[in-house]
Amino acid sequence: MIRAKTPSLLSSILRGYTWVILLITVGTSAVIFTTFRSAFRERAMEDLTRSAYALVPMMQNHINSSSASTSRLDSLVNTVAPNMGTRITVIGRDGSVIADSEKDPGEMENHRTRVEVIAAFNGISGHSVRFSETLGREMLYAAVPVTVEDSIVAVVRTSLFFDSYSAAMSPIVKEMFFIILIALAIAVFSGLIISRRIANPMSNLADVADRVRRGDLGARAAPGHTREHNSLASSLNETLAKNEELIHDLSTSNSRNRAILQSMVEGIAVISKDSRVLLMNDSFKTLFNIRNSERELPTEITTLFQQADISPEGITRYESKIIAYSQAPVEGSGDFVFSFRDVTKEVLLSEMKRNFVSNVSHELRTPLTAIKGYGETLKDEVKGESHRYLEVILRNTDRLIALVSDIQTLSEIESGADFLRIESIPVSEIFSTVMPLFTARSEEKGIPIVLVQAKTDIKIKADCYRIEQVFVNLIDNALKYTDSGSIEVRASTRGELAVFAISDTGRGISQEAIPRIFERFFVVDRSRSRKMGGTGLGLAITRHIIEAHGGTISVSSTPGQGSIFLFTIPVS
Ligand code: ADP
Repeated sequence: MIRAKTPSLLSSILRGYTWVILLITVGTSAVIFTTFRSAFRERAMEDLTRSAYALVPMMQNHINSSSASTSRLDSLVNTVAPNMGTRITVIGRDGSVIADSEKDPGEMENHRTRVEVIAAFNGISGHSVRFSETLGREMLYAAVPVTVEDSIVAVVRTSLFFDSYSAAMSPIVKEMFFIILIALAIAVFSGLIISRRIANPMSNLADVADRVRRGDLGARAAPGHTREHNSLASSLNETLAKNEELIHDLSTSNSRNRAILQSMVEGIAVISKDSRVLLMNDSFKTLFNIRNSERELPTEITTLFQQADISPEGITRYESKIIAYSQAPVEGSGDFVFSFRDVTKEVLLSEMKRNFVSNVSHELRTPLTAIKGYGETLKDEVKGESHRYLEVILRNTDRLIALVSDIQTLSEIESGADFLRIESIPVSEIFSTVMPLFTARSEEKGIPIVLVQAKTDIKIKADCYRIEQVFVNLIDNALKYTDSGSIEVRASTRGELAVFAISDTGRGISQEAIPRIFERFFVVDRSRSRKMGGTGLGLAITRHIIEAHGGTISVSSTPGQGSIFLFTIPVS
């Protein structure tokens, strides 16, 4: 619509140019014509005045002659006028017309008030240009006084039709008009050529822009005739070349990303702020049984997207599937990228494994307890070699019971975070339960366990039974691996955390072993650990419990001098 109404650059320039030329031509012609006309009129007026003066001696002669009469004068005027090519009128002192070459003086009105006549009676030549209402034509008048013996006796007036004079101008005007027309045609034609030279390169640029808009990335502007156009065209071409390269790179990287996306086992979806799916790969469709044509997502999934406080990763269920997801925001857009993985098999497998471990541990506990019971009964009755064998059996039974118990604890902990019963516990209460457990062994080994600068008046957010288990494990290890010196237990706070430290003066742990110390079944010295009844699971359990409480554990040690186990638990 706009396109149809908007004129082209060529027609705009041409139209403007033609108007200017036309105005200049018409203006110039008008000025020339009026100048010519007024010069003509002036010239005619001069001629008329001269003619009037030429008549004055004749008038004087006639007035002075003895046979002077009005009729004679009138016939004289009628004789002279055709030769002079003007109308001649003689006006008496009273303003009455005495003689006239065109009309009967008797029929003519008094001329006293005529401008040129008044001037002539005042002794100077008078002129006037008037439109004659009666004749309907423009007339020129010149009047001069006729003086006899220093007094003005009459006025001679000559007059003519100015249009007849103007008619003489007509061939000149015609010629001028013809020349102007030719000049106008040449100007318009050259204007057309100039306009084309300006407009063509511009329309070439517009054409290139339009082709690019329609997707022709190879379109380039042609060079023109002017420096400005060439500079514009080369800048445009450079920009277009860069854009083409950029778009090519983008589309390559886009196809690469698409291929990566499609080849992924994980279901990937990009979700907008208002839960619309902007992008999804085939794995996502397979995972959520979405047909290719479908854009609507199952409500289970959209509700997951809509949760304001959705965690960065988690587990959700869809139909019979267990699906692990993780999400990350797309910076600057408000969209989210979700990654989904079907973990049904893994979850079921680990559940089976946990159940199996739990069942086996449970089933083993009964026969082991029976073996231990019967063994202890027998130990008092059997002497000698058999007694020693029984002691070995009992020691190994104890190890087996500890192992089964640790495995069961670990599988309980791994079953999920809800194994904890969090409450607010005073630290003093924990110490008063745990410390007495070691009194006998500490005295037996001659290694005191002391509370140093312990802030026992704080409370922590913890599962009482599990946190006691942590202290028991760490103090038990310290006692086990320390032969002389002492064990110190410290408690302090750091911000929202309670910090506990269990340090010993034992044999310490080598730097190589430290990173692996919290792994399951990791023991530094297997034979010694076995002798001590260790399972290699204590520290693994300890770390799990602390981390489930939201705390951390670390160890620092100097071989031969001792170790320090530091852990944190949130204060309540
Ligand atoms: P274990 O039941 O064998 O003690 P843990 O998981 O409790 O198993 O400990 C793993 C290993 O870490 C132990 O075998 C031991 O070598 C080392 N360890 C743990 N605590 C200490 C300590 N206080 N001093 C020296 N070594 C230690």
